[in-house]
Amino acid sequence: MNKSEIIDILKSNDEALFKKADEIRAEYKGDEVHLRGLIEFSNICKRNCFYCGLRGENSNVKRYRLLPDEIIKIAKNGADLGYKTVVLQSGEDDFYDVQKMTYIISEIKKLNLALTLSIGEKTYNEYKAYKEAGADRFLLRIETTDKNLYKKMHPKTSFENRVKCLYNLKELGYETGTGSLVGLPNQTIESLADDILFYKKLDADMIGIGPFIPHPDTPLSGEINKENFNLALRMMAITRIIMPDINIPATTAMETINKDGRKIALQSGANVVMPNITTQEYREKYEIYPGKICVNESPDICRKCIENKIKSIGRVVSSGFGFRK
Ligand code: SAH
Ligand code: SF4
Repeated sequence: MNKSEIIDILKSNDEALFKKADEIRAEYKGDEVHLRGLIEFSNICKRNCFYCGLRGENSNVKRYRLLPDEIIKIAKNGADLGYKTVVLQSGEDDFYDVQKMTYIISEIKKLNLALTLSIGEKTYNEYKAYKEAGADRFLLRIETTDKNLYKKMHPKTSFENRVKCLYNLKELGYETGTGSLVGLPNQTIESLADDILFYKKLDADMIGIGPFIPHPDTPLSGEINKENFNLALRMMAITRIIMPDINIPATTAMETINKDGRKIALQSGANVVMPNITTQEYREKYEIYPGKICVNESPDICRKCIENKIKSIGRVVSSGFGFRK
């Protein structure tokens, strides 16, 4: 598919796209769904992304950070619940220096878990230290490839550095995940097509696509646009067709704006879900966007709930690590 073909499909309402993506998912990835347990370990962030509730300038957030041994304990609980991967996610919080991070990573790797990091932009040497400590994967969304829009959304940081970080992660041997926010103000369909071509050029191993959900305490406050669900789903399905063997999550943001969002996504190309395994008391404080699902549930309830959803659509929970290859 070239750019104009991608644009045409993004603009159309043809439901056949989802069926095609589902068939390709079945052929290349099978019926197994990989679960990644998400640990939201700090909501402290030095950045100010316009769309995000955790942005440093939002003084309405009750900030928290978990200590290294608390994080390791949550990962252990995840392993006990049957997770084969945990994802450590946070704001960009410099409290976790190389020494602390490599300690956390190496302890978690003793639990026979695959480990994904989602902690933002770091230097080449930091990424290298984390890889050497045992981290397997890294999630860093490009968010948008429209450079003007990127600049408006991200004061003081550059698109070029974001891209450089992604290529550094690839070079260091991480399974590298990226993706986009769909429905940002003034985002064009043309730029969304460019986003997909960017994933392909990077040869990303994982792609996470989510609808933008406005947060009231940010410069982009406003109404949810439900149309963004369908557009994000189309982005995801096209990505599956163009990159048949990668891992694609049914994102939490999709479920937030559509009560069956993850099931629908799993039937339109996705093969991964990332249930929250953070201790309950911190969940509502990690408010990237409002209305986040599962803030009142405990990790074991979330696990059972998602297993039931997966079974209800005739799929199975994987017992493997779920690497791309
Ligand atoms: N600080 C790290 C990881 C946490 S943010 C980072 O930025 O990479 C994780 C993701 O949340 C971001 O990549 C972004 O795509 C998403 N996000 C932020 N604000 C959002 C919003 N208002 N609606 C939907 N997704 C949002
Ligand atoms: Fe911080 Fe990530 Fe939110 Fe940006 S998207 S403000 S880096 S937590």
